[in-house]
Amino acid sequence: MTTAPTAGPATETFDSLNPATDEVIGTYPVHGADQVRAAVGRARQAAAWWDSLGFDGRAERLARWRGILARRLPELCEVVSRETGKPRGDAQLEIVLAIEHLAWAAKNARKVLGRKRRAPGLLLANQAATVEYQPLGVVGVIGPWNYPVYTPLGSVSYALAAGNAVVFKPSEYTPAVGAWLVDAFAEAVPEQPVLQLVTGFGATGAALTTAGVDKIAFTGSAATGRKVMAAAAETLTPVVIEAGGKDPVLVDADADLDAAADATVWGAFSNAGQTCAGVERVYVHERVYDEFVAKVVAKARDVNPGADYGPMTMPSQLDVVRRHITDALARGGRALVGGKDAVGERFVEPTVLVDVPEDSAAVREETFGPTVTIARVADMDEAIEKANDSAYGLGSTVFSRRRGMELARRLRTGQTAINAPLSFAGIAALPFGGLGDSGFGRIHGPEGLREFARPKAIARQRFTAPIALTTFARTPRTEALVGKLITKLHGRR
Ligand code: NAD
Repeated sequence: MTTAPTAGPATETFDSLNPATDEVIGTYPVHGADQVRAAVGRARQAAAWWDSLGFDGRAERLARWRGILARRLPELCEVVSRETGKPRGDAQLEIVLAIEHLAWAAKNARKVLGRKRRAPGLLLANQAATVEYQPLGVVGVIGPWNYPVYTPLGSVSYALAAGNAVVFKPSEYTPAVGAWLVDAFAEAVPEQPVLQLVTGFGATGAALTTAGVDKIAFTGSAATGRKVMAAAAETLTPVVIEAGGKDPVLVDADADLDAAADATVWGAFSNAGQTCAGVERVYVHERVYDEFVAKVVAKARDVNPGADYGPMTMPSQLDVVRRHITDALARGGRALVGGKDAVGERFVEPTVLVDVPEDSAAVREETFGPTVTIARVADMDEAIEKANDSAYGLGSTVFSRRRGMELARRLRTGQTAINAPLSFAGIAALPFGGLGDSGFGRIHGPEGLREFARPKAIARQRFTAPIALTTFARTPRTEALVGKLITKLHGRR
């Protein structure tokens, strides 16, 4: 493997560990502010070259990178699996989706961002009006560890396709995956450091935020998102914040209960529940509540930590999960699967909680572990009200045969899947993002490309206007004429 363009040597280093075994995966530099700033300086030059390639030149090079990711899929799966502890199949799923997104972004960049005509309007009919979306320059991407390929590439791929250079700071829990991706890019695009890696802890991310980048794309917790936004405010650097979630599932009386139970179990427990848009709360119509709960319990009992999902990647998360379960049980909740002994030293057993008060931590805070709360509701209006009563607003899912679209539209989240789990995340043409504590801005789809570009409006005069308004030579006659014209056009109602 080639050596990726990184921010260069640093005196301090840190180890990345396999969370299942504590085996050292690799040792990486802790990059300081000067090194991060130097990387951004190099990126600025690379950005000019990358921009000059145009949509076709970039698409060609992004296709080469995609080719490497696809051909070396097993190797990348292995790195992801070792560094996060997730099963190979799950590693493959996130890489496959990331490759699809990369292909879509490169293929659609010209169509979405290229120059387009706009109607100039009657008063300025002598003008040709166009708008095009130009790259911002250098984008800083700060990533989390839970989906170390899919999540950062949701920003990186779209930022690159839009013509920007990127400086990428992966999570301190997954630097090896970050280095692999950047190395592969350098192989596809050896000419300039268009995608660079900086490694380290929060301080390195903070340094990137204030290093003179043109935008920060942050994915991580809401608490860190607030810090990133506050720091970025100093230099009026725009930010996209992709933060956490407390995603609900709604199960209507006419739902396919087997499908809803399957989606709940997979959405709540896959990746050990460490999914931003994973299932954390379920609201079920009282007519089908007992049957649905029985199906979830039966399926949850078949899920095996260590085989179906891995350990908690971040050891400190074990305390959060334990606190949420303990609090739920202390306040009258019941564990139908798992419970207070579910939290081990590395792994957490699947836990299904019922009768949990709506104001408890397990319902209000992001648990980010393999637990789920299920609540009975009298009707779907109550389900909507409870689902929407959250500081977060990332994703949601509805199971309903007749009212899927209606209920989906009423859910206060950035995206909703109907009758299938998380389907929106795999559709590259759909935007992804949140509201409230889940953040703002969008990655993926046309909106994701535009997030990393700025609109440039141009009005070109084609011929001298018969009615000249923007000149001191304007006459009272012209003013009267325009007054009459506007009254005729707009004064009818
Ligand atoms: P985190 O907030 O602890 O860290 C995220 C990144 O920010 C890391 O790279 C970290 O080093 C860096 N960082 C820490 N302090 C910083 C600072 N002051 N300035 C700049 N950067 C700083 O989050 P995490 O534990 O890595 O990830 C889990 C969280 O991410 C969960 O809340 C999850 O829901 C969320 N997430 C959201 C999405 C989404 O698309 N909305 C996707 C995946 C994960």
